[in-house]
Amino acid sequence: MTPENTAPQKPEPKSGLMRISPYVGGKATVSGANRIVKLSSNENPYGASLAAIEAFKDGADTLALYPDGSARALREAIAKSEGLDPARILCGAGSDEIITFLCRTYAGPGDEIMHSAHGFLMYQLSALAVGADPVSVPEVDLMADIDAMIAAANERTKLVFIANPNNPTGTLIPDTEIRRLRDGLPSHTLLVIDAAYAEYVTEPGYDSGAALVSERDDVVMTRTFSKIHGLATLRLGWCYAPEAVIDAMNRVRGPFNVSGPALAAGTAAIADADFIARSRDGNIEARAWVAEKLERLGFPVTPSHGNFVLAEFGTSGPHSAEAADTFLQSRGILIRRMEGYGLPAHLRISIGTAAENGVLIAALEDFVA
Ligand SMILES: *Cc1c(COP(=O)(O)O)cnc(C)c1O
Repeated sequence: MTPENTAPQKPEPKSGLMRISPYVGGKATVSGANRIVKLSSNENPYGASLAAIEAFKDGADTLALYPDGSARALREAIAKSEGLDPARILCGAGSDEIITFLCRTYAGPGDEIMHSAHGFLMYQLSALAVGADPVSVPEVDLMADIDAMIAAANERTKLVFIANPNNPTGTLIPDTEIRRLRDGLPSHTLLVIDAAYAEYVTEPGYDSGAALVSERDDVVMTRTFSKIHGLATLRLGWCYAPEAVIDAMNRVRGPFNVSGPALAAGTAAIADADFIARSRDGNIEARAWVAEKLERLGFPVTPSHGNFVLAEFGTSGPHSAEAADTFLQSRGILIRRMEGYGLPAHLRISIGTAAENGVLIAALEDFVA
């Protein structure tokens, strides 16, 4: 051994990992405020289905037992409510875990994983975690640029992630454009449609991606229980995918990746059509109200199909996004800064209850005064 090599070597993380800036979630606390209005993580302001809460509590009786690793009852409940084939559903600890399964199954060092510039941050983080190169494709008017994404695809492109509606912009891509994207991508590329906000969409002709999955062997749709179902803390998501994709992902998935109480609550939640409808309708009404108030205050809002709005403030001056965030925090109101998404002039504001939205708008009226 040469003298240079005698220095003890430290364990080193895999290359690429240190390029990851760990995901920073929406703020949940602020010092000095006794009442918090949390509009920073797109959670359901109405809580969760009472049936789901009951099912979760019942799960307390069997904490000592391993959960059903195949998530059969939940997959069947999802299949029934969505009109899908339960054999083509796979459940995860949040759709975040589904995203990591897809990256681990289909990509590694030397591969590319594509997303649009203002797409959900987890795509980039999961790509780096498997040693693949994330490729960010610029958007036009805060919308994914389908032509640019098709042009950016190459023999190394293993996965393309597109959220529809997109978080944080709230924009919706028409089904025809999603199909044009799929048709324009190489056949070795798996297209992943992240439909985390599907239940909120009222646009005629919207397809969450399920129809496209049924027709092809190169499309996956992901969904979550964290948004309209109000079960974010339980970490529960699922995907609808071709059988070959499910089979491959099941080899990567841990045998008991979803906990029993999460399975039970999810099974009850997906069947509670009333709660889902009330959450959706409440959101539509409140979102229109919040958007109109923001516009009147001089903060343009991107038309949103989710349970949040993206509002434009500015990068400097008294009414900048930073100034607004600081002011709102002093009132105990938490919203999401967007630098991490390449949108430093914008704030993403989750739609709350009528009372929460009222507190937000009253504070912003004071802010501009
Ligand atoms: C919130 C969100 C998710 C998922 O969340 P989980 O809590 O991990 O299920 C996935 N994609 C988008 C675009 C989201 O906004």
